[in-house]
Amino acid sequence: MSTPTLELRARSVGPWPMNTYALVCPDTRASVLIDPGADPETLMEMLAGTQPIAILLTHTHPDHIGALQDMRERLQVPLLAHPGPHFQDMALATDREIADGEIIAVGRRTLKAHYAPGHIDDMICFAVVDGTDIIVGDTVFAGGPGNTRSSIAFQTTLRTLRDVVLSWPDESICHAGHGPSFRLGDKRAAIEAFLARDHGDFFGDATWEMGL
Ligand SMILES: [Zn+2]
Ligand SMILES: [Zn+2]
Repeated sequence: MSTPTLELRARSVGPWPMNTYALVCPDTRASVLIDPGADPETLMEMLAGTQPIAILLTHTHPDHIGALQDMRERLQVPLLAHPGPHFQDMALATDREIADGEIIAVGRRTLKAHYAPGHIDDMICFAVVDGTDIIVGDTVFAGGPGNTRSSIAFQTTLRTLRDVVLSWPDESICHAGHGPSFRLGDKRAAIEAFLARDHGDFFGDATWEMGL
């Protein structure tokens, strides 16, 4: 019998809407809240029966942090995020900065942080160690990579797709900041084909089929 890894909970909140997540240790009930985008009451309900130990951010776009201040006050737990630069150079009072490759404990289980710049400079993906769930923020969606604001950012996204995302196993389940989760193996061929095409100085909203 395999050891249960972290329990994943998800809620869709806010006007866009976005996906907020919690990961819960099945032994200790310790939990982390990832991306408190909106609607604190829904976030509290998602965390019910757990002992929150930290708030984690995939990145600092407003739709992912809309309820951050409220949840910090309610939970009184440390905020962990990439050191930045953050969205519009905002001053984020992080309690602990997350480095690429860092291991974060959640009760008796762990997460591994993967730095994934492109969509924004402070993106972190959180992979459950010894599990298949990866919280990817706006790095990748079922239909394409996250939106980019410059051709330099798009080139950075291409590097992140090649060096970070495609390094994960096929059985990885990517849980995105918007829309449905997907199995990486089901998208690998489309991502590889996307990377093999020349997109020139493109930036913006891309799909895996773009340029076909
Ligand atoms: Zn974003
Ligand atoms: Zn987003």
